[in-house]
Amino acid sequence: MEISIRTPLIHSLPLSQHSGCEVWLKMESSQPTGSFKLRSAGHICQYYAQKGAKGFISSSGGNAGIAVAHSGRKLGLPVTVVVPETTSARARELIELEGARLIVHGKVWSEANEHALSLVTDDIFYIHPFDNPLLWEGISTIVDEVVNDGLRPDAVILSVGGGSLLSGIAQGLEKHQLDHIPVYAVETHGTASLNASLNAGKLVRLDKVSGIATTLAASQVCENAFTVARRLNVTGMQVSDEEAVNACRQLLDDHRVLTEPACGVSLSLLYDRKVQFNPADKVLVIVCGGASVTLESIQA
Ligand SMILES: *Cc1c(COP(=O)(O)O)cnc(C)c1O
Repeated sequence: MEISIRTPLIHSLPLSQHSGCEVWLKMESSQPTGSFKLRSAGHICQYYAQKGAKGFISSSGGNAGIAVAHSGRKLGLPVTVVVPETTSARARELIELEGARLIVHGKVWSEANEHALSLVTDDIFYIHPFDNPLLWEGISTIVDEVVNDGLRPDAVILSVGGGSLLSGIAQGLEKHQLDHIPVYAVETHGTASLNASLNAGKLVRLDKVSGIATTLAASQVCENAFTVARRLNVTGMQVSDEEAVNACRQLLDDHRVLTEPACGVSLSLLYDRKVQFNPADKVLVIVCGGASVTLESIQA
């Protein structure tokens, strides 16, 4: 059984014309839960289920928690998601819609996470939102599908929060001998934990994260994302909250698809022409998606 689905790969005429290169969109927004997190959560939950897991615990009020809730439902195993008070009503609704038990605990994520960890038992497994090789392995199938669809990209653009997407795509690129191509890893100014680490030459933790792209708001990327960023041809990029939101609006107009600002950051590199590509370059953008986004939230 596959929990995540094979997503469309779309050649974007509007974005190609706008950016002067060949733009390909991998539509992870089409996953049943609206983001690539279903690849990672689905893969790890299925693996643990085979090892005898009787249930799962997540502490993410975002796309990761929703994906774990969905995966548990598909596997017929109970899921508990512990979220802090700051988690939006919309996200809580989506978690409960998947049939998971929702516990609201603590003011910030670290408090919710501590409570989640206290609920772990021998057969109730904790699913980290971004730091586990099994998550990255699930995400690497994005590159498998792209290559199977006949595209060998010349560059990749992706968003970075805690770094599972970067880790998984890097694994996929290495699998297909594509690890020499440039990877643009994009954050907002307020969530630029990878950029900070790359500039410092070591893994650093941000004192605070801020801004609209809450999905990217990990104060520190996982160590593997940092190692991968130094091993591969990865360039850290930053855009503003406003640019991220505007890119979401433009994607909506161009492709009738609504995504979170966490995804808009990647699209903004092209919409705001922040990188110059050659006309023949095939540029792959991971349209990472976003479950909780609504037209109202983008307008606000
Ligand atoms: C999780 C997520 C990200 C960031 O991914 P990381 O693996 O945490 O770097 C970006 N966009 C969306 C929609 C996500 O769900």
